[in-house]
Amino acid sequence: MTFAVHGIAVARGIAIGRAVLMAAGRADVAHYFIEPGQVEAEIDRVRAGRNAVVEEIHRLQQTISQMGPKEAPHELGALLDVHLMLLQDEELIAGVKHWITDRLYNAEWALTTQLEVLSRQFDDMEDEYLRERKADLEQVAERILRYMKGVPSPVAQPPAPKRKTQQDLLLDDSVDVPLVLIAHDLSPADMLQFKQSVFAGFVTDVGGKTSHTAIVARSMDIPAVVGARSASQLVRQDDWVIIDGDAGVMIVDPSPIILAEYGFKQRQAELERGRLSRLRHTPAVTLDGQKIELLANIEMPDDAPAALKAGAVGVGLFRSEFLFMGRHGNLPDEEEQYLAYRRAVEGMEGLPVTIRTVDVGADKPLDESRRDEAHLNPALGLRAIRWSLSEPDMFRTQLRAILRAAAHGKVNLLIPMLAHGGEIRQTLSLLDFARAELDNRGTAYGPVDVGAMIEVPAAALAVRTFLKYFDFLSIGTNDLIQYTLAIDRADESVAHLYDPCHPAVLRLVADTISECVRQGKGVSVCGEMAGDTQFTRLLLGLGLRSFSMHPAQILAVKQEVLRADSTRLAEWAQRVIESEDPAALMAA
Ligand code: PEP
Ligand code: MG
Repeated sequence: MTFAVHGIAVARGIAIGRAVLMAAGRADVAHYFIEPGQVEAEIDRVRAGRNAVVEEIHRLQQTISQMGPKEAPHELGALLDVHLMLLQDEELIAGVKHWITDRLYNAEWALTTQLEVLSRQFDDMEDEYLRERKADLEQVAERILRYMKGVPSPVAQPPAPKRKTQQDLLLDDSVDVPLVLIAHDLSPADMLQFKQSVFAGFVTDVGGKTSHTAIVARSMDIPAVVGARSASQLVRQDDWVIIDGDAGVMIVDPSPIILAEYGFKQRQAELERGRLSRLRHTPAVTLDGQKIELLANIEMPDDAPAALKAGAVGVGLFRSEFLFMGRHGNLPDEEEQYLAYRRAVEGMEGLPVTIRTVDVGADKPLDESRRDEAHLNPALGLRAIRWSLSEPDMFRTQLRAILRAAAHGKVNLLIPMLAHGGEIRQTLSLLDFARAELDNRGTAYGPVDVGAMIEVPAAALAVRTFLKYFDFLSIGTNDLIQYTLAIDRADESVAHLYDPCHPAVLRLVADTISECVRQGKGVSVCGEMAGDTQFTRLLLGLGLRSFSMHPAQILAVKQEVLRADSTRLAEWAQRVIESEDPAALMAA
């Protein structure tokens, strides 16, 4: 039966495909398709994994049979019996075989998919004892996965995903239909892992529009909906679903009429993309001759080609923290960072690259295990520059790596979340220190312009102090909105109050831009507002000439720029920001 689940639209477009339900914490499992000739080898890997775990349990049973009841309580033996029983359960292995044979999933993916199917069955059980056996099942699967990690897949490279049209879908329901991922939650680092993956769309139960998970989804340029509450409970593995990333809706088990309608929308969107791609080489100039800089936000050096392809004239925000996440405390050293930054600089072929120093904390923990650390309010805690200043060795290592990369092209250094004059001075003296260390070592490095992000209301209000110290400013509207309105950007329960059009937010943005313009200093917006075409005219009217956004948004924003007359927009923009209801005036 067809039904719809509503959430928050975060990445545009329509995806039609089969649901892949992801259990929490399963994002580290590889997801790719195998070739039909590799089916047997993949089944053998799972079988070998299972047999190895069975043997391990037999050995354990023998060991504990020689122990007394004190060293090995009776419950331990009973627990091992349950694990053995689960391992030999036909439904587990038959299900795994099905996902490998019929859907050509790799072994790990097949195992976790079947685990999810069985977990649901356990959840539905009346008997509490049986219901609790779900945890045992998870432990058993975890052991098999751990064993399989040591035995690499015979498939060397996951093949690239195939994108299918609606027409293909209706004609062909074979193994390579598009897949959409449905999860309760995905961390930004999980999401990044999916960048090269097979999925054509995402839905998560939690998250806000500018949560970092949503930001990474948007950078992948595939439809995504977050904050869809119980989506992961309502959908079953392999259900047909439509993700409408424009409306923030997921339609489950669509009827043929609905499928046809969305197929039409999908084709329209493809046509629109084709039309926009013609603007790639067109300079971004307004009708009244103002040159506008359209820059790209990137998460990894490998994103540089997509930025160039979209016609970006540089990188306005390289979120360097993605190099630091999911490393289990083993942070990248100077050489590794230098090579990564250099790759981004060289990848941009002479265009400028703005590297932001590490911004971890809040919804970007260094490691998943740290997520639950008892911080009462992580968004207000040791995040971004605050963390960097509390780890001066780590910070100087990063600064040295960035300075060294600046020997290979134009690099700007950007500091996140500054609020205090003391933090500014400390940051700049560590930068001097990093330069002195390179001088002492005789290591080559290049010049950098140094900029600050305006993300905290205090920074926007103290913009003149900031301009005394910095060459340029970049307005991080995602956080500026969060901190001005006291709305956690990752919390779907207050997402309706997260309002870029709030007069207080617009006032801070407008005053920051006008002070920079007055002093002749560079200013850009690198939050999500910059890539949202609803705000292009307003920001142009406020005097902004530099926008940084996901590569996929550049051409749509350029189209708005080409149609705009900034002189005429200036007076209108002032009226908008002075209004009690700016959104209404903007829509008029
Ligand atoms: C912002 O806050 O607007 C920004 C660009 O930084 P991030 O989204 O990474 O916090
Ligand atoms: Mg920010």
